[in-house]
Amino acid sequence: ASPSYPIRATLFPGDGIGPEIAESVKQVFNAAEVPIEWEEHHVGDTVDPKTESLLTWESLESVRKNGVGLKGPMATPIGKGHRSLNLTLRKELGLYANVRPCYSLPGYKTRYDDVDLVTIRENTEGEYSGLEHQVVRGVVESLKIITRQASLRVAEYAFHYARSNGRKRVSAIHKANIMRKTDGLFLKCCREVAEKYPDITYEEVIIDNCCMMLVKNPTLFDVLVMPNLYGDIISDLCAGLIGGLGLTPSCNIGEGGIALAEAVHGSAPDIAGKNLANPTALLLSSVMMLRHLQLNDKADRIQNAILSTIAEGKYRTVDLGGKSSTSDFTKALCNHL
Ligand code: NAD
Repeated sequence: ASPSYPIRATLFPGDGIGPEIAESVKQVFNAAEVPIEWEEHHVGDTVDPKTESLLTWESLESVRKNGVGLKGPMATPIGKGHRSLNLTLRKELGLYANVRPCYSLPGYKTRYDDVDLVTIRENTEGEYSGLEHQVVRGVVESLKIITRQASLRVAEYAFHYARSNGRKRVSAIHKANIMRKTDGLFLKCCREVAEKYPDITYEEVIIDNCCMMLVKNPTLFDVLVMPNLYGDIISDLCAGLIGGLGLTPSCNIGEGGIALAEAVHGSAPDIAGKNLANPTALLLSSVMMLRHLQLNDKADRIQNAILSTIAEGKYRTVDLGGKSSTSDFTKALCNHL
C-alpha cells in the first residue's frame, strides 16, 4: 500500500552542533517540499528509569511508532552512572546493522577520485558486548560474542542491500585465521547467505589485508560486511578516503524495518553554537532516510543539490577549506533546489 502523506518521522536534533545542522535539514526539506512531518524529541537532562539513560521511553516509542527517524550527534557523558545514548538506541530499537555509503564527492579533491563503496557493520554484539572483567590482579578479560542469529541477520541485510542497490559484490571482512571460532562462525553464516544470492559475487578478505587494499586502491571494494569492532574502524577509514566525518552519512537498520539515519560525527563541542558546522553528513543521512521511505525523487533532488553546491566551490564550510557559515551553505543549497 502506498504511504499516506504527510509521513511522520522522528527527529533527534541531539547535542552540540546537532540543533544547527538539524535546522539545516528542516529548511532543505521545506524547500524541496518533502512530505515529512517531524516529531521532534530532545535528549533530556534527567535519567529515565525505563531506559536507564537520558533518552526517554517516549522518544524511543516515537521511533517505534513512526518506523523512521533522523538523529543528530549525542554527547556521551563520560564516567556517569547511566547508559550511553547511542547504546540505548541500538539496544532498545534492535538496530542491528549500520550502513555507511562512502563515495567521492565530485569537485572536492581528495587522494582518491573514484571511491564508491558501502560498509555494513554488525551493530549489536562482537567485541562491543560490554562483557569485561578482571580475572585476577593484572589480568582482565573481554568477551567477544558472535551468534549465528545476529551474523545471519546482518549478512542477509548486506546481500539484500547489494541486490536492491545494483551492487555486484559482497566482501566479508574477518580475522578467522586467528579468531577461528568467532569470526569462523561469522564467515560460515555469510557463506550460507551468499548461496541464496548467486547473482552477487562473494569473497572473504582478512581485515589487515583489507586495510592495505583500501588505502592502496579503494575501487577494489563494493559492499563490505563485518563484525562490530572491524566495522567501527573500517567505516571511519572509509570516511577518511572521501574527505572526513563532516561528509559521511549512515543509517541504522533495526528489527521490523526500523530505520534511524544519523551523521557519523560527534557533537563537535569546539564549534557548537558558532554557525560553523558542515550539515552535509546529516543532510546525506536524511537522503538515506528518504530512500528507505521510497521517496527517491526527493532524495535525488536533495542529493544533487548538495553535490552541486559543494562541486561549485563558492559556498563551502570551513572544514572543507571554505568560508561559509552553516546558514549560508544551507541557503545556497536551497537556491539549488
Ligand atoms: P566529533 O566528531 O564531535 O569532533 C571531531 C572533530 O571534527 C572536531 O574538531 C569537530 O569540530 C569536527 N567536526 C565534527 N563534525 C563536524 C561537522 N559536521 N562540521 C565541521 N566539523 C565537524 O568527535 P569528538 O570530539 O571525539 O566527540 C565529541 C562528543 O560527541 C563526545 O561527547 C562523543 O561522545 C560524541 N559522539 C557522538 C557520536 C554520535 O552521536 N553518533 C559519535 C561520535 C562522538
